Amino acid sequence: GSMTNKYAPYELYRVVKKTYGNGSKVPRATLFTLVRNSELFDILESIQRLENRFNGRMNYDWVFMNDEPFSDQFIELTSAMVSGTARYGIIPREHWSYPEWIDQDKARAVRESRKFSNIIYGSSESYRHMCRYNSMFFYKHPIMNDYDLYWRVEPNVDFMCDILEDPFRYMEETQTQYGFTIAFQEIARTVETLWERSMGYFLRNDTVKNQLPESNLLGFVSDDEGKSYNMCHFWTNFEIANLNFYRSEMYNGYVEYLDRFGGYFYERWGDAPIHSIAASLMLKPEKVHVFGNIAYRHTVSGSCPLDDELIRKARCTCDPKRDWTISSPQPCNMKYLKVSGQKTMKDFDKYVG
Ligand code: GDP
Ligand code: MN
Repeated sequence: GSMTNKYAPYELYRVVKKTYGNGSKVPRATLFTLVRNSELFDILESIQRLENRFNGRMNYDWVFMNDEPFSDQFIELTSAMVSGTARYGIIPREHWSYPEWIDQDKARAVRESRKFSNIIYGSSESYRHMCRYNSMFFYKHPIMNDYDLYWRVEPNVDFMCDILEDPFRYMEETQTQYGFTIAFQEIARTVETLWERSMGYFLRNDTVKNQLPESNLLGFVSDDEGKSYNMCHFWTNFEIANLNFYRSEMYNGYVEYLDRFGGYFYERWGDAPIHSIAASLMLKPEKVHVFGNIAYRHTVSGSCPLDDELIRKARCTCDPKRDWTISSPQPCNMKYLKVSGQKTMKDFDKYVG
């Protein structure tokens, strides 16, 4: 049917369902999905899986965000699938367009030159707006003002175990700022100047530098004490974070500084290395957490709990021997464990062998 907008211009539609939990103690938290209408059936799959494994018991809100109006079909099918209130946001044009200082001919030339390269999305324009949006705008959308915590969910993801412990409550109780499952290596050609620019903000500026914590996760993103980037990043397609981390003056100073250099458009800076460099420098190690108890898969990689008892209790369908941390040729999850000192899962030693 046709939808009429009862809400502010930035909120297209809202389907209110029962509220979760018991009142004021519940985290102000939401699931969050940036998605295109054309991805409807892929996101329905992700929703069905996460509702089945977790949110069907919790009924957290689910915010859908798009640079174009959602179709009626999209709203009808997704709101029928979620157990909590579904909200549909529209991205303001200023958050999904070129800032005036960008040389669009230069940006186009870069995309053209990468048409036949093997850099994934190297020639895509929309991918660049998406990365910029996920770096510096998603948390500024007025709908997000209703929340402190968010969990990013993409189309085509799977959760292979019941999620028995509420990660939002975990974040709140432990004062964790940033949570992830998989760490990944970036394609160097997409971030050629990102490290240099990032250090230009974090280290060459005394007012910023003096506010950084003494112990941090620099060793996760750099193998030479900050001279260069090692390409490790938290895979942001799964991300549970405290929005106040992104709302902080320091984070916004960082992304606004970066934006002046146009690296989203002239290179192909991803939001994942940007979130990761920021979290690694700005947060004490204990403010970051790898959710080793959440089995998560997206495209080429998946995590699986290294805990035999949990595998049974949580009715997992994943093989712990194929968990990304222990079975991938990429070093980033292992590096994180080493640098952070976070306690590993119960049967980690057995599976690492
Ligand atoms: P990948 O995971 O790096 O391969 O990138 P994706 O294609 O999965 O995009 C990341 C997220 O942004 C997904 O949730 C997509 O649905 C979303 N996304 C990507 N491009 C667009 C776009 O042009 N418009 C909208 N609304 N969402 C997008
Ligand atoms: Mn994706």
